[in-house]
Amino acid sequence: MGYRDPVESADVVVIGAGIFGASIAFQLARRGAGRVVLIDERGPAGGMSGRTFNQVRRHYSNELTIRLANRGFEVLDHWADEVGVGDPGYVRFGYLLLVPEEAVEACKGNIALGTRCGVDTRFLEPGEIPDVEPLVNLDGVAGAAFEPDGGVIDVHKMILSWVVAGIGHGLVTRFGAAVAAVEAEGDGVTGVRLRGGDVVRTPVVVNAAGLWGRDLVAPLGVALPIAFFRLHMAYLRQRVGQLQLRVAVTDTAGGLVMRPDQGPLALAVAYEKDQAPRDRPSDDAGVAPGYERFLRETLRRRVPAYADATWERAVSGLYDVTPDWHPILGWAPGVEGLYLALGWSGHGLKLAPAVGEVVAQEVLNETPSIDISPLRLQRFQEGRLMHLAYGPGARA
Ligand SMILES: Cc1cc2nc3c(=O)[nH]c(=O)nc-3n(C[C@H](O)[C@H](O)[C@H](O)COP(=O)(O)OP(=O)(O)OC[C@H]3O[C@@H](n4cnc5c(N)ncnc54)[C@H](O)[C@@H]3O)c2cc1C
Repeated sequence: MGYRDPVESADVVVIGAGIFGASIAFQLARRGAGRVVLIDERGPAGGMSGRTFNQVRRHYSNELTIRLANRGFEVLDHWADEVGVGDPGYVRFGYLLLVPEEAVEACKGNIALGTRCGVDTRFLEPGEIPDVEPLVNLDGVAGAAFEPDGGVIDVHKMILSWVVAGIGHGLVTRFGAAVAAVEAEGDGVTGVRLRGGDVVRTPVVVNAAGLWGRDLVAPLGVALPIAFFRLHMAYLRQRVGQLQLRVAVTDTAGGLVMRPDQGPLALAVAYEKDQAPRDRPSDDAGVAPGYERFLRETLRRRVPAYADATWERAVSGLYDVTPDWHPILGWAPGVEGLYLALGWSGHGLKLAPAVGEVVAQEVLNETPSIDISPLRLQRFQEGRLMHLAYGPGARA
């Protein structure tokens, strides 16, 4: 089939070639799910996966998320065997989570949980932090969690590797095509209608359309509790002869997240406190007026060596956030054949390899290798929210 030929039918349609859709489509194709069609109007990594901070770590508040992250790191370490094409661009430089006094107990609890789940992590007293990262100002810092395996991945490389590997297993891609609607008759999915009118008939649709996934299924009566939060990121160039950041630093109290980037660059985020959620998704990558000053003030308090660094460029994106800052994974109630993989709440990247596997297993009616039932949509109605040791936020 030529890459422009109309696709009339599929066994599974995956909407969205971001990190989740690409991982899921690869796993479905590899596991012999029949004709799997991956559709994306912007192309691979054209959504939020193309703008992300790229950070990976395993410090989490619940066992399920740690298990998904553990499997993710395993795949990063054995990419050639697991995927067979490309590489994930994983660079390990360590992850340091700074906590104030009131969060020490939660931090130690997460470390104990992580250790029980096999994560290499430990608590650092303030006096031990400069050995790991000398550039941090320790005012108000009562300790830190440290994970030597934390670092970055290259999300573009991962997505393209999965897509190319998937094509090798028969995956059909349609990039530049937009799904206008998921069609259903009675209680079940029958296909997707593309903008322009073509219909791809299919009994199964996996909705991995990121920010746009919520509104795509609303006409089917599937109401998803997802709101959007804007995040600004700036690339800063350190001055010649100055010390450079060594590890990824997250400052829970000061609202700063920062990591080394290429050469003399670092990537930094200052979190706006009490940001009101937005109701509409958006492609806008612009940065709010005043953000540069806000970030420099935040840096001056915590990593002063970067407060006057050269401003290279800045970009923003939206988090798709659920009420408990954990994703929605599973079949949509009331619409047979519609699978939801949405609401990653700003921290999903390292979960994507495992998510591809478990979603493919559920779609193929197999028992998933990790039980993801606590992430079903129904949890919000049933009041079974995921535990957050630090309260609402992408720290999760
Ligand atoms: C600024 C920023 C920084 C972040 N930093 C981190 C981090 O450091 N670590 C971490 O773990 N997470 C981070 N995240 C979160 C993470 O990047 C996202 O959760 C993840 O990339 C979302 O992937 P996705 O596949 O769900 O969505 P996307 O990557 O947005 O993919 C969805 C795709 O669906 C396509 N699509 C949508 N609607 C349609 C349609 N109707 N028809 C066809 N195609 C459609 C889009 O074109 C898009 O390509 C960050 C997020 C942002 C915004």
